[in-house]
Amino acid sequence: MSSDSTLSNVRFDNWNLESNILNSLSEKGWDFATKIQAEAIPIARKGRNVVGQARTGSGKTAAFGIPCIESTQTNGVTQAIIITPTRELAQQVSEELTWLKGEKGLKIETVYGGTDIEKQAKTLDGGVEIIVGTPGRIIDMSKRGHIKLEGITTLCLDEADRMLDMGFFPDIIWILEKMVNRKQTMLFSATFPEEVLEAANTFISDAEHVMSDDLEVEIPEIEQMHISVGRANKLWALGRILIKMDEDDQMMVFTNTKRMVDLLTQRLSKFRLNAVGLHGDMPQNKRQRIIESFKEGNDKVLICTDVAARGIDVDGVTIVVNYDLPDDVESYVHRIGRTGRMGRKGVAWSFVSGEDKGQLQKISATWNLEIPESNPPELPEGVSREPVKRQQDWAEVANNFGMVTVNLSIGKNHGASNHNLTNWFHTEARLDQLAIGEVTISDSSSQVEIHLDKVESALKVMANRKWDGNSVNLEILK
Ligand code: ADP
Ligand code: MG
Repeated sequence: MSSDSTLSNVRFDNWNLESNILNSLSEKGWDFATKIQAEAIPIARKGRNVVGQARTGSGKTAAFGIPCIESTQTNGVTQAIIITPTRELAQQVSEELTWLKGEKGLKIETVYGGTDIEKQAKTLDGGVEIIVGTPGRIIDMSKRGHIKLEGITTLCLDEADRMLDMGFFPDIIWILEKMVNRKQTMLFSATFPEEVLEAANTFISDAEHVMSDDLEVEIPEIEQMHISVGRANKLWALGRILIKMDEDDQMMVFTNTKRMVDLLTQRLSKFRLNAVGLHGDMPQNKRQRIIESFKEGNDKVLICTDVAARGIDVDGVTIVVNYDLPDDVESYVHRIGRTGRMGRKGVAWSFVSGEDKGQLQKISATWNLEIPESNPPELPEGVSREPVKRQQDWAEVANNFGMVTVNLSIGKNHGASNHNLTNWFHTEARLDQLAIGEVTISDSSSQVEIHLDKVESALKVMANRKWDGNSVNLEILK
């Protein structure tokens, strides 16, 4: 199940861990710690602050979870708080802590938005030792007096660089300021941009850094490829990937907007391709149902925003598709890291339009990755019908000014000139001045630029027109 590159040769039973935790681990069949666990757990158990960086799917949850559980007493007082960027991740982390604690009678409560406040308040008032949650609801509950941040001594930020970026930093500062008795702080992520480490230094002192050399981000062994495809044909390419899926493959498809999640899910269902969508504007109970069903393997294809890019652990995910290339370089690492977990194999496809080429370059340069171009998978043997038909995508062959270059089989030798060619298109295809760009004439051929909105109809008309009594061959130049 696990590859050598992720596991260490340190056995959990060498550590003299609390027996409840040891029992849980052995019941689960975990004998060896992963590398990040082997390094971080002994440090954390001494009560030290830890900044831990390790690749996606390498067991960071237990790296902070085990010491967290061990140092927490069953006394009804909240002692540890773990903060994550999304509700789904809070739920997942909470579940992992719950099985890790085993028979230790700790109460662990998840605290995130979209759930019944009154009920949650009651639970919290009843005495909870560990809280796992998202910033908004944690702040809310603490303002209402149901979480006493002053008394909490241990703070963990999972996906710490995300928690300390502009979106969440003010919330985290708010929480930090209330945690006047904070004794231990642990930050974990697969990515730690330099500026985040600097920000962390302002509130965490003397942290032991457990990370790869030079902050080099390690990427699991995921086969990464890109397909050059414009907006019009992304669905066609996705159709090819979908039809090639095996029975036990699962796939996550990332888009950049919530609206695209909805649109894409609808469009796929029109083509009888099954997929479920997940984004942050959905009602919480629906979000929960969908992620659970996906985790159980009942749904094979999840279309989602970056709400599912970080932390989500579904071991059946074998394929990740960047339907839209992510806007920030970190996101790429986290998205593709939904596959290839614990040394398993995975494939990541990125759809790259002409406009996205620069962003792809930036991603591969930042992480020192090769993301070679590839065609979409071929149709399976015996299948001749495309799941989704391919369209002519003029935007992809047009230049920055929206002009498509058409090559004509007539040139100076046939009496063509800049003037009479422009006129010819003008009268025959009714193209106005703006629809015609540069015209270049050589001896036996010429090139005419036509605006992408007009080129299709122009080609249709001109195919039947004669030049000096002879038919003309027109073709698109890329
Ligand atoms: P990360 O947070 O580094 O992305 P996770 O904590 O989500 O990784 O762990 C990835 C997967 O590996 C999870 O399914 C987890 O249960 C499993 N795992 C973690 N540690 C071990 C271990 N020591 N032995 C076997 N499996 C493990
Ligand atoms: Mg994680």
